[in-house]
Amino acid sequence: MTFQVDSVDGRARAGTLSTAHGEVPTPLFMPVATAGSVRTLSPEELSETGTRALIANSYSLLVRPGVEAVEEAGGIHAFTRWRGPIFTDSGGFQMVRKGFLVRKDDRSVVFRDHVRGDVRELTPENVVELEARLGADVAMVLDDCPPAGADREAVEDATRRTALWAERCLQAHTRDDQQLWAITQGGVIDDLRAASTRDLVAMGFEGYGIGGLSIGEPVEDMWRAIDGSVDLIPSDRPRYLMGVGSPREVMDAVERGVDVFDSAFPTRNARHGTVMTREGRFDITRGRMAGDRGPLDPRCDCRICGEVDRAYVHHLWRSNDTRWMNLVSFHNLHLMQSLVAGARAAIAVGAFAGFKEGWERAGTSSQ
Ligand SMILES: [Zn+2]
Repeated sequence: MTFQVDSVDGRARAGTLSTAHGEVPTPLFMPVATAGSVRTLSPEELSETGTRALIANSYSLLVRPGVEAVEEAGGIHAFTRWRGPIFTDSGGFQMVRKGFLVRKDDRSVVFRDHVRGDVRELTPENVVELEARLGADVAMVLDDCPPAGADREAVEDATRRTALWAERCLQAHTRDDQQLWAITQGGVIDDLRAASTRDLVAMGFEGYGIGGLSIGEPVEDMWRAIDGSVDLIPSDRPRYLMGVGSPREVMDAVERGVDVFDSAFPTRNARHGTVMTREGRFDITRGRMAGDRGPLDPRCDCRICGEVDRAYVHHLWRSNDTRWMNLVSFHNLHLMQSLVAGARAAIAVGAFAGFKEGWERAGTSSQ
């Protein structure tokens, strides 16, 4: 058994995911380590924020430094020095969105690599092989994500191809210390989302990503699609909402029965100067921060909030000392991890609704 539901409160769940690199509690929030690192944060710092698992992008690692380099280091855990669970996404999704696509058909997706411009082909089989060689604990299948606003015909085609590729990934998967999770598609068209989820569930994966959302569709459509997937994923399997990760969205999704999240939201915001707090966000680069002797977040118990004040972080920014990004990234990620840990504790005692309401009243929900 790789996933166990420990407690349920309404539709919200607290569970335990078992992997080859240990057990992690859910709801689980993973920061994004595209090339094997969460920018500016060391593995020790990540652990200190409460981070329990990471997601890396297998395609990015294939392009740089190359799968051989990761293998020579002893696999992705030894290469990155992260000892906890690591998920890998295929990465095809990002490349297609960034406009590097050359062609896509049932056989494969072909695009120019974003570093050297070489033409690369990803097939379900070579993605699974790549993820096996990297040594991730959880490998995500190659899927086909239609753009937001795609017409029914295009979504139907992508949904069909996603199922075809998932089946081929399953056939190609051999590593028994690695889980393979599927990704549901279907855009925001209800019957296609349901069909995609049903097709993948029938194949029997260890977990299910809910993909292709938060890419520009109306927010009410996104929630309907999430509900449509969650309802059809067996309750003993983890549900992973991919690429969604503002505090507001994570809390709303936990309430709807989602277990796992990944997002660059807290760390990317940090590098743009945005400090997330329990009362809303602010910009550390604003001039008035120069005289502010308060901590980044007065209600935060992280190490950074205990050690430095806003004026100092602002000073580092002003002085072009990139350490300010490390300090804000640490704090923002710590806030996200505190939020999911708080949600888990509340679910365990049947108090999630009250926990969420208290958090919304504090103002953090505006983020
Ligand atoms: Zn803090």
